Amino acid sequence: MAAVKKVAIAGCGVAAMAAAIQLAKLGVDVHVFEKKPELTALGSGITLQGNALRALDEVGVWTQVLEKGYPAEGLVIRAPGPGAPVVMSLPEAKTGGPDYPASLGMYRPDLTGILHAAAMAQGVTFRFDAEITGLAQEGERVELVVNGEPVGDFDLLIGADGLHSTVRELIGIDVGPQRTGMGAWRAFVSRPSEVVSSEAFYGGPVYIAGYTPTSEDAMYAFLVEPAHDRSALSDEEHARLMYETSLAYDGPWNSIRADLLTSPQVNYTWFTSHLVPDAWNRGRVVIIGDAAHSCPPTIAQGAAQALEDALVLTELLESHDELGQALWDEFHARRLPRAAAVVEASVQVGQWQIDGDQHADVGGLMFAVAQKMAVPA
Ligand SMILES: Cc1cc2nc3c(=O)[nH]c(=O)nc-3n(C[C@H](O)[C@H](O)[C@H](O)COP(=O)(O)OP(=O)(O)OC[C@H]3O[C@@H](n4cnc5c(N)ncnc54)[C@H](O)[C@@H]3O)c2cc1C
Repeated sequence: MAAVKKVAIAGCGVAAMAAAIQLAKLGVDVHVFEKKPELTALGSGITLQGNALRALDEVGVWTQVLEKGYPAEGLVIRAPGPGAPVVMSLPEAKTGGPDYPASLGMYRPDLTGILHAAAMAQGVTFRFDAEITGLAQEGERVELVVNGEPVGDFDLLIGADGLHSTVRELIGIDVGPQRTGMGAWRAFVSRPSEVVSSEAFYGGPVYIAGYTPTSEDAMYAFLVEPAHDRSALSDEEHARLMYETSLAYDGPWNSIRADLLTSPQVNYTWFTSHLVPDAWNRGRVVIIGDAAHSCPPTIAQGAAQALEDALVLTELLESHDELGQALWDEFHARRLPRAAAVVEASVQVGQWQIDGDQHADVGGLMFAVAQKMAVPA
């Protein structure tokens, strides 16, 4: 018997949909409100670490994810210059345990589509074009306002509404994303057959030039540079700048450049970080995923942490008879240290790149975090 019967969820990202599926499996009446008009996700790729794959298996979508994505082991490090010499091949830790690949690259809209279909199959109700704009807590109910209109009341509101969370603001938490000083172009391109795992170039005009396969045919490529305000640029200008900057890199970048010329799908994003350091709930409203914490994708743990938040919260909602302080204490004890370890390490790795620190033990820090993540959340 779950501690809640009727739940509203803000957002339609991985955190929201994992929580929705798990609650619906328990027979909870779940209503998802998403401000976008339809199910779209930024058309780039994502790297899912083993612990994210383990979480997706628990949600029940691992077979579909494996079918659509590109599983890989290890990271190839190359240097700029003619021939793109391979400097080393690093093994990646299996943070999901031996049953899953170390990581899997995927086209984001495919992941969103799989989760949405699974949620629909469990009977979750979705409303698009539905922005949560207000809430009030009365006794054991949360009254919700969507697009300025009341939409009824719920036992719990899960704010999985991302980096710039409205729910976070509505419950008075004023910790939010801060820029880390890095920005990245990302492009969705075709996969040259020689690329069978993530590869990264260090050195040259940007901090990192890399790419990750997302299927037999496709991969996403990225250039991480000092953050610039590039908001005024058109898609074509982004593609041109990414093309010109990438000229320092040989090997698979030649194929990427050909795609940038013909079918540019490029976006530019700043990296941010934040962590709500104490309770993520106020009464019967809680924030999870990027609403509660964000980090630069230097160790690609953002989605994994968002999924783990959803799974731990829904597990506790199943095992507790009531939505009281005991549940929240257990939730925070299990989630805060883990999210903090990821945010701190991700920021540190990025900062070492910004500082050009040649002696930093990047591998050691990444291995230490991976060992933590290998222990189930
Ligand atoms: C450049 C970049 C690269 C990244 N690469 C990786 C990677 O390779 N691997 C990885 O694991 N992580 C990566 N991340 C991080 C990862 O994308 C996030 O951690 C993850 O998507 C967070 O999921 P979420 O469900 O919490 O939020 P989101 O996916 O942001 O979903 C939030 C949803 O809420 C909706 N919403 C917002 N406000 C409202 C409202 N008021 N009412 C209703 N709906 C609302 C939004 O429209 C959105 O659909 C990357 C991040 C960046 C910036």
